[in-house]
Amino acid sequence: MTDRIPHVLLAAYVALFIWGAIAPYDRAVWWVENVPIVLVVLTLVILYMRGVRFSALAYILMSILPYWHTIGGHYTFERVPFDWFSRAFGFEEYLITRKRMSVALACLFAIFAISFVAMSYELIEWIYAAYGGNAEAGADFLGSQGDIWDAQKDMLMDTLGAIASILLYLTLRKPGRSLNKSLGLLLLIPAATLSAQTTASTIYDRVILAGRVMDPASKLDAVRNIGIVDGRIAVITTQAVRGRDTIDARGLVVAPGFIDIHAHGQTPETYRYYSLDGVTTALELELGTSDVDAWYRERIAGERINYGVSIGHIKVRMAVMHDSGTVMPVGDGAYRAATPAQIVEIAKRIEIGLGEGAVDIGAGFPYTPAATREELLAVFRVAAKARTPIHVHITPGAAGLKEVLSLARETNAPLHVVHINSAALAETPVMLSMISAARALGRDVTTEAYPYDAGMTEIKSATIQDIYKIAPDARLAELEWQKTGERLNRESFERYSRTGGPVVVHTNTEQMVVVAIKSPLTIIASDAYWQNGTGHPRTTGTFSRVLGRYVRETHSLSLMEAIRKMTLMPAQRLEARVPAMRQKGRLRVGADADITIFDPRTVVDRSTYREPTLSPVGIQHVIVSGVSVVTKGRAVEGVTPGKAVRAPAF
Ligand SMILES: [Zn+2]
Repeated sequence: MTDRIPHVLLAAYVALFIWGAIAPYDRAVWWVENVPIVLVVLTLVILYMRGVRFSALAYILMSILPYWHTIGGHYTFERVPFDWFSRAFGFEEYLITRKRMSVALACLFAIFAISFVAMSYELIEWIYAAYGGNAEAGADFLGSQGDIWDAQKDMLMDTLGAIASILLYLTLRKPGRSLNKSLGLLLLIPAATLSAQTTASTIYDRVILAGRVMDPASKLDAVRNIGIVDGRIAVITTQAVRGRDTIDARGLVVAPGFIDIHAHGQTPETYRYYSLDGVTTALELELGTSDVDAWYRERIAGERINYGVSIGHIKVRMAVMHDSGTVMPVGDGAYRAATPAQIVEIAKRIEIGLGEGAVDIGAGFPYTPAATREELLAVFRVAAKARTPIHVHITPGAAGLKEVLSLARETNAPLHVVHINSAALAETPVMLSMISAARALGRDVTTEAYPYDAGMTEIKSATIQDIYKIAPDARLAELEWQKTGERLNRESFERYSRTGGPVVVHTNTEQMVVVAIKSPLTIIASDAYWQNGTGHPRTTGTFSRVLGRYVRETHSLSLMEAIRKMTLMPAQRLEARVPAMRQKGRLRVGADADITIFDPRTVVDRSTYREPTLSPVGIQHVIVSGVSVVTKGRAVEGVTPGKAVRAPAF
């Protein structure tokens, strides 16, 4: 019987080893801890089978050794020198140099090495959980089960391991008990192993402690600790967790990183502004690009936040029609009807863009007024065939929405109507109900809004010129020249139209903005607009503005609902075509560690039409793939954890 013990022991240990490999764990620490233990056990078994017998003391020491290593491994990993303990007490030297060790010393060693250290470990965990501001853990302390119970259980296990070691030593050192040496091996190693397994819990890359974790997908809204490993969320727990880096999130909301599906600025400068507003993924899906491969290639070195682009009808049309505009069409791209051959070419190029992994298709009818229904149908057919949403800046008003809904219905293309607020203005309620009605009929239609009552665009663009060139003079006062803040008249409108530049367009009311932001239909998307160092304040403040003004100040929507509109809804809109989006917009184990941590009591935007560069307050930490891009409200410089968001080629 005793001869088979090493085999049983080995099998048991291998099982533990496999269990450890399956369980979610920090791989690096796991290898450091477990491989040496297995090697020691294997060595003992091989020696035993070859007939080598050690003294009981040797077995004890050898079985303690792995545990000792575990403790050491933990701390070496955290780069905290822990062998001060053995140095200070001279234990290791004692063990090595003294041929005979007193029982008292052996006991002392066992107590210190196993019980004391492990207990302190658990005690710290216990104290932290009970008094470290973790409200739930504190409640557990008062009686219910939870992490306190686990800490106590671990402490008990460690203590038992230590006591077993000492008892066995005392028993086995008596003369005439050599046959039972293997028994010592049997009991000691599991004791040490159990101890190691229970206390050597994971050291995460980073931990976010005691934040109010809000996940719109699971509806979780509770104080939790989060552990991050390799850019992913490894654990969300009420238990105490340890990491090589700690973010104290007490009093703060921990949300999935915000996803902006309408962000025109795609430069390091704008990515920086977005990140300060809590955005971890910014996608240019309306204008898009005409060359998807080139667009992603330009950013291959990595960006501050995740980025992505659509294949844009506007941009493709500009290329096919040889328009000279830089951002938006100013010539034939806007004003000339395409020939049948050109329509075929436009559709073909859009298909190529999708093949290159464009997130979806973008379009903006007011920017391409000469595009015929036939041309638009050709584009919508491509969208339907690829089952990709087409993001459309519609012709303003209910008639424009009717037009685009009919294009989508006729072709069966999934449709996303951009910025319903500025597209609908006073017609916001009726246009939202039109979208509701289409959805009720099973149509795949979604929409978005931004929380500002004025828009901004290039004065030279067709959207401005077509309206205000022929508008009565009085209406020109709706336009504000952004650089100076002056309202325009016929003379200044003509003058600035020649030089070009951004104009603020005051056509909406706050009342309508509230309707748009409140609606359960709308995703929050900024329509960030930024050029030559300036632009619309929505570029720098959309998300903090919703959280500060519409959630906290006016209670127009709940905090969870706001977060849902900024995270889960945009992710869900895109995930059918871009499966990577299934790992974004949620806080759950396995999801990308794109996380925004903000103070719900202070968060608010500061940017204005005149000072659009001002960053918000209250957005404390922004993490992309586990890497901080904003820490304590300030941008971290020189980090590029952002990755391409791209559809698989079809
Ligand atoms: Zn836009």
